[in-house]
Amino acid sequence: MRILIYGGSFNPPHLGHVRSVRTAVAALQPDKTLLIPAAIPPHKHLAAETPAQEERLCMTGLAAGEIPGCEASDIELAREGTSYTSDTLRVLRERYPGAELIFLMGTDMLLSIETWHEPEVIMALAGLAVFAREEGREAEIAAQADRLRRTYGARVYVLEGEPVPVSSTDVRALLPRRQGRELLPDGVYAHIIRRRLYGARPDLAWLREEAFSYLKPTRVEHVRGTEAMARRLARRWGAEESDAAEAAILHDVTKKYDRDGQLRICEKYGIIPDKWEKANPELLHAKTGAAFAADRFGAPVAIADAIRFHTTGRPAMTVLEQIVFLADAIEANRRPYPALEAIRQAAFADLDAAVELCARRTVAYVTERGLPLHPDTARTQAYYLKKLEDRGAAPIPWDGL
Ligand code: ATP
Repeated sequence: MRILIYGGSFNPPHLGHVRSVRTAVAALQPDKTLLIPAAIPPHKHLAAETPAQEERLCMTGLAAGEIPGCEASDIELAREGTSYTSDTLRVLRERYPGAELIFLMGTDMLLSIETWHEPEVIMALAGLAVFAREEGREAEIAAQADRLRRTYGARVYVLEGEPVPVSSTDVRALLPRRQGRELLPDGVYAHIIRRRLYGARPDLAWLREEAFSYLKPTRVEHVRGTEAMARRLARRWGAEESDAAEAAILHDVTKKYDRDGQLRICEKYGIIPDKWEKANPELLHAKTGAAFAADRFGAPVAIADAIRFHTTGRPAMTVLEQIVFLADAIEANRRPYPALEAIRQAAFADLDAAVELCARRTVAYVTERGLPLHPDTARTQAYYLKKLEDRGAAPIPWDGL
């Protein structure tokens, strides 16, 4: 039996790791491959933004899931103190007597192995497989492999394949800038976004793809239009444009669900529908959308609240909430309705006046159709009317439906 072992911080595991393991598995045909995240790596300090151990184990498991016969092991996380590879190999030797152990590593690790704790024990218990992290190190690797063979009797396998020159450090720096997605296995990226590890913010192209998969095809154009309008408004009013885009992309994410679907999502997230939502379950998609966006895509409170209040509004909205509330109502694909042009113009001239008119129009529309008016909309209209009065500004004239 041959066991391939890959140790690291996996903070997070990236495509360089996956490429290495795939190459090693193809070349060495192990019966089993173990990815082992270190509890306390001997060679490096874990970065300040390192998530809990269970998160690294979970992400390592997701990366392992991409490779047949590969699994994540908590053997080092479960052990106290510094995670020495020699100790891990001793445990594996006992656990799998007679098995051939091969320890996989990148260029940096092969070149530094003699500085590790008990290097001679490591090389006695396991063969070494090395996969280059970058081009142009072949001679260095070959020379070191030769030296280790001569000095320690090491069995060294030099693997060939195109390197993926990336490090977890690079990835951690990119994630808060909505970048780095292409450097990670899909499942790992989705997990990082869902849990907002490393201060990650979603790549918006990725988010669109994900969010649109929950929409009826006919709704996609509306969501695209809402994003475009939210971006314009964010630029006009000095809000974070990509946050406005994120909220807009997600604002209707649960819209396609009917009454029963909405109620099921409510139950899942502990949302208790009020009497207006019970009478008109259409309203629920804002609350269920916010909860879903927070759970599935890790939307932070400011973005989740912009989704939560995009239909009814609420008094004293943040600028982001006002932007999403308006963008939904006035995006370019909206079928014309009375007051649309007036709200569109106001949205770029006076945000409060635009919100007031938009809420006033909703009150008129809902009342005319005999639907129960959600009090949040009435309160929103009253709040912004008073705000305008306090500012000495007149509400926008509109003579109703
Ligand atoms: P960090 O940037 O946090 O130091 P890292 O990207 O070097 O992390 P580790 O999890 O510490 O990743 O590395 C685990 C093992 O994977 C080491 O043997 C390392 O040499 C190897 N490795 C890391 N990145 C690559 C890569 N891009 N290609 C090949 N091997 C890699």
